[in-house]
Amino acid sequence: MALKALDIYKLLPKKNCKECGDPTCLTFAMKLAGGKADVDLCPYLDDQAKSILGATTRPPIRLVRVGVGERFFKVGEETVLYRHEKTFYHPPGIVFRVSDAQTSDEIAAVTRRVRDETFTRVGTDLRFNGIAIENTSGSAEIFAKTVAAVEQQQAHLPPVLIAKDPAALSAALVHCGSYRPLLHAATGENYREMCALAKKHGCPLVIRAATMDGLIQLVKDCTAGGVQDLMLDPAPENLGAFISRSTQIRQLAITRSVPELGYPVYLDASLTGLQDAAMVLGIVKYASVIVTSPLMPGPAKASLTLRQNIYTDPQKPIQMNPGLYRVGNPGKDAPVLMTVNFSLTFFTLQGYLESSRVPCFMLIVDTEGLSVLTAVAAGKLSETLVRDSLKKFGVESEVTHRKLIIPGYASPLSGRIEEATGWKVLVGPRDAAEIGEFLHEEWKNQG
Ligand code: SF4
Repeated sequence: MALKALDIYKLLPKKNCKECGDPTCLTFAMKLAGGKADVDLCPYLDDQAKSILGATTRPPIRLVRVGVGERFFKVGEETVLYRHEKTFYHPPGIVFRVSDAQTSDEIAAVTRRVRDETFTRVGTDLRFNGIAIENTSGSAEIFAKTVAAVEQQQAHLPPVLIAKDPAALSAALVHCGSYRPLLHAATGENYREMCALAKKHGCPLVIRAATMDGLIQLVKDCTAGGVQDLMLDPAPENLGAFISRSTQIRQLAITRSVPELGYPVYLDASLTGLQDAAMVLGIVKYASVIVTSPLMPGPAKASLTLRQNIYTDPQKPIQMNPGLYRVGNPGKDAPVLMTVNFSLTFFTLQGYLESSRVPCFMLIVDTEGLSVLTAVAAGKLSETLVRDSLKKFGVESEVTHRKLIIPGYASPLSGRIEEATGWKVLVGPRDAAEIGEFLHEEWKNQG
């Protein structure tokens, strides 16, 4: 159970000495309650207070980082069971599986795909996260050579190394430097050797057991062995078992009923027998790393789209950067259309403008991602914002006319915008689908 700020305050030394960086103990307590400070910042806490506060103010699921460099990813630190309660924070890493029994050409093709493939949706570049290399050859030497080849081809892709034999992992890790690959997996039989490897190379470690008791015991053993960055593989025999176990883990972790289960969950979608369905359910039902055979283009785009949708904050609309955007090659007499920086509005309008084949400028103003109707109602879209944006983005030097097309839903502001800017305002249609017709008829009649 999370503590409230006043409960936390009662446990603080109340010296108001500012050594934690906050002006008072109460402000420090408020930060702790919001998960925005670390208990260790106060040097005067006794051990008992530290352990109570540490256990209740840390996120219930540990943050684990995989890889280094620009393609590293973080998972965990989730605080809710359902996205609508707040938000999900760290999207699952989607990792393409290769085997050291495949040819080097096949492995190179998958590596290139993960390295280069980008799918742009609502202004965001979506990518897969890495390569999982599995030791199916049974040879430590072949496994190490395969890992070395992948590392050589692209050292910035966080890899997952999958091997039952700690000796094979040890041979492969030699080629990973300080790269922090995710190691799979410690079991009841090999956890001592796996922990020693994870500790030596600073790697996160997956533990694998098919029961909650088995996972809890392995967490205790591995943390006692000095490895804190763990992930849980509930070893599902099918997709139903995964959903049931991952949901149980999430519930017990979020409520802090079983703190030992407070780690991100690992799913190997290719072992469930229903890979595409496992991708969907894994993203929705709490998998933090999903290993899969390379996906066909359709399921690949669907998975990236779903992940983006589930892991956007429902309270924060996706936004575009405000500015002046060009559609085609607009000249000095091209129309200027003003609209808001809600991504969906931008891309919908941009699509219809492109199909109209009328080169033009889009002036995108900062309404904090609100749609036109909401921004007008909330007072976020105003004549001063439009006036300042025209100046800030140098629109006057781009065109010789002084006519501005505003969205139909912003019509109540038309008079005020004219007064504030000195530009003639033309009220466009409410429905973006009608903008082509508007430009061909109304705009052309403006002379
Ligand atoms: S360091 Fe501790 S005692 Fe000092 S102000 Fe911060 S919380 Fe209070």
